Amino acid sequence: MLAVTEEDEEIISSVVAGKTPSYVLESNLGDCRRAAGIRREALRRMTGRALEGLPLDGFDYGSILRQCCELPVGYVQLPVGIAGPLLLDRRQYYVPMATTEGCLVASTNRGCKAIAESGGAASVVLRDGMTRAPVVRLPSVRRAAELVAFVEEPSNFETLAVVFNRSSRFARLQGIQCALAGRNLYMRFSCSTGDAMGMNMVSKGVQNVLDYLQGDFPDMDVMSISGNFCSDKKPAAVNWIEGRGKSVVCEATIKEEVVKKVLKTTVPALVELNMIKNLAGSAVAGALGGFNAHASNIVSAVFIATGQDPAQNVESSHCITMMEAVNDGKDLHVSVTMPSIEVGTVGGGTQLASQAACLDLLGVKGASLESPGSNARLLASIVAGAVLAGELSLMSAHAAGHLVRSHMKYNRSSKDVSKAA
Ligand code: NAP
Repeated sequence: MLAVTEEDEEIISSVVAGKTPSYVLESNLGDCRRAAGIRREALRRMTGRALEGLPLDGFDYGSILRQCCELPVGYVQLPVGIAGPLLLDRRQYYVPMATTEGCLVASTNRGCKAIAESGGAASVVLRDGMTRAPVVRLPSVRRAAELVAFVEEPSNFETLAVVFNRSSRFARLQGIQCALAGRNLYMRFSCSTGDAMGMNMVSKGVQNVLDYLQGDFPDMDVMSISGNFCSDKKPAAVNWIEGRGKSVVCEATIKEEVVKKVLKTTVPALVELNMIKNLAGSAVAGALGGFNAHASNIVSAVFIATGQDPAQNVESSHCITMMEAVNDGKDLHVSVTMPSIEVGTVGGGTQLASQAACLDLLGVKGASLESPGSNARLLASIVAGAVLAGELSLMSAHAAGHLVRSHMKYNRSSKDVSKAA
């Protein structure tokens, strides 16, 4: 902080002395930028660290209040690169990627080129449903089984759907999957959530249903709104098998000459490597949803650029990459199958200025007025398309033995870090 006014000095001293909790600054002052500056100066005095390099100005702190981040003292800058055009379902997209990994954007860009020169990729969204699974405890296994029977009875389900759907204009209950562990019942609610990723929406609907069920099952003890059968931000077979968010498959047929000219390898080399690395190698590793080369690289970079919840990269990156020779063995058919891409174009970080600009570049900013949910589904398809490009390019680099060479050239600091303080 450069100049501290007398009034601010008093508040900073009070925060440093522990008399004013730092988290009340925004509401006490009614000025988010000022609150962040005071918190930062108090932090400097307490730690002796000035956070040089972490900018304070140039950010709208009001836009994150009660929505995106608490106790702010600045913001981290990340470069955004563009891969594309990605020719997907006959439309072109320029894909924003926020990353600090050299080669990643360039490599995805090369994959996009190979796809475009081969006529483009095609995608399908097979399922669209966000999940939340509360855990409730009943006095006995028999009683827990009675609740399962109640929930699974079609007429009861219809009533529960009405109760659930009252919580939102867009959330619509699709199903409830039950699993028992002793007398604990896990109910995995699945619902469509329009253009929102939907975690808050589904949680609200689930709470409504639990309150309603308590009427018929007063002996039901709600242990947690989330019993981990959801499963949010953790690797879990249930997401890999049943899907969560958007389940997307994306494919392309890459021409033989494009494999040679753009990807600098051959169709047989790619097919063999995919089998040995992405299928057999991942099986040897005991992978769960990790039958790919680096889906999470592309997913994370697009998630951060477009304001998604980056922790959901865990399940959103589940992907099996398939490659086979087609057209008499000349061309390459490649696909990525991603059962749990969790994205939204409203809510969370999507409304922040930088992230909204990236969504706008893709033509999916905000809510779709004509067809709620179509923007979020399109974003999921674009994520899968970009993953397809990333898989093609990295696998080709592996097949051609170029990986280490390009990382040494583009992903190593030119500065001598050993001399850094
Ligand atoms: P949200 O911002 O909580 O809810 C979406 C809001 O947008 C709702 O108020 C909805 O209206 C409104 N909306 C307007 N047009 C819409 C449209 N076309 N489609 C869908 N909604 C529309 O967003 P969310 O996706 O449910 O939650 C995202 C946040 O949850 C993120 O910040 C994420 O980090 C966080 N999160 C929460 C949990 C959790 O356990 N609660 C877990 C992981 C992440 P209605 O009011 O009519 O629904």
